[in-house]
Amino acid sequence: MKNNVTKNITNKTLGILGAGQLGKMIAMEASRLGIKTCILDPNKSAPAFQNANIIVNSEYTNKKSLEQFVKHSDKVTYEFENIPLESLSFIEKNSQIFPGLKALKHSQDRLLEKEFISNLGISVAPFYQIKNYVDVKNTIEKLKGTAILKTRKFGYDGKGQYVIKKYNIPNIKNNIEKNKYIIEGVIKFKKEISVIVIVKKDGSAVCYEPSENKHINGILRETVFPAKISTKVKNKAKAIAVKLARSLNIVGIIAIEMFVDKSNEIIVNEIAPRPHNSGHWTMDACNISQFEALVRVIFDMPIPHIKYYHKCKMINILGENYNVIEKSLYKKNQKIYVYGKDQIKEGRKLGHINILS
Ligand code: AMP
Repeated sequence: MKNNVTKNITNKTLGILGAGQLGKMIAMEASRLGIKTCILDPNKSAPAFQNANIIVNSEYTNKKSLEQFVKHSDKVTYEFENIPLESLSFIEKNSQIFPGLKALKHSQDRLLEKEFISNLGISVAPFYQIKNYVDVKNTIEKLKGTAILKTRKFGYDGKGQYVIKKYNIPNIKNNIEKNKYIIEGVIKFKKEISVIVIVKKDGSAVCYEPSENKHINGILRETVFPAKISTKVKNKAKAIAVKLARSLNIVGIIAIEMFVDKSNEIIVNEIAPRPHNSGHWTMDACNISQFEALVRVIFDMPIPHIKYYHKCKMINILGENYNVIEKSLYKKNQKIYVYGKDQIKEGRKLGHINILS
């Protein structure tokens, strides 16, 4: 006689929207737990197809492909935010999507995201909706001459983000498309941290301890675990992260990126309702990785108390530092992950290394 937990994972398939590195690492953990995967992505050489049981190589909007995807998938998750909402609504009619659509909708649009967070009484950078060039001019005055112009949608790894100054805004006059942007004030932070929250189906939440992030030109380069911040700041960050996860009805995991300023105030920068690059250290530093946690929640498996075995520095391998792979392979305290992307390009994430101590 099978008990309930093993019944939940026997002959089950997880549908994953997106076959990038995050999809690949979700698939690897699902497979370790005996769960098959069906993965949909338009790019035929996307990394996660190396680990998929069923491949659906198609645009996210193709109805026939979505039908095929749903038919094979007992439950569905996604590895990135920018999946068309119509496709998600179609899938939702036939399957359950984790960590959930409310969070996804908010994370797809920086304006909705910032409004949602600040309406909860949580600090964010000062932000303004930009409808046209006149708004840019007026806003830069309010923000004392320097600000960050961000596209509301489709921004990632620093893309769609421009530091603007009062004196150079005439240069962008002709490039401002209607209703496409927000402007944020520049936060003088002393640290960037992130917190990953696991929320189970019964609503109970557990947090990983915060990690510390270093970005260059908007791209994450390194994450250090644990973050070098006081216990008081850690607890504050975790409480904010749990409040956000609950308010967004997360079932699964969510990563919250935050700034810590010099008076130890926490300002939330971004939410990512999925596994996150700044959580890759969990693959080797503790007993349960962010990917395993997501799969466990989706298939009703227990979440153990999180135990930390190592300190860890996670380094992203980008196109320009691809040669670190060879060096790393000789190091006994390093665990390397190579995503298997088809092209090496500057700024493209090709793998990561967890350096353990
Ligand atoms: P984002 O795409 O919004 O996560 O931004 C990428 C990175 O740009 C962040 O991790 C920060 O390093 C920097 N950044 C974004 N927004 C701000 C801001 N309002 N103030 C200061 N730095 C920022």
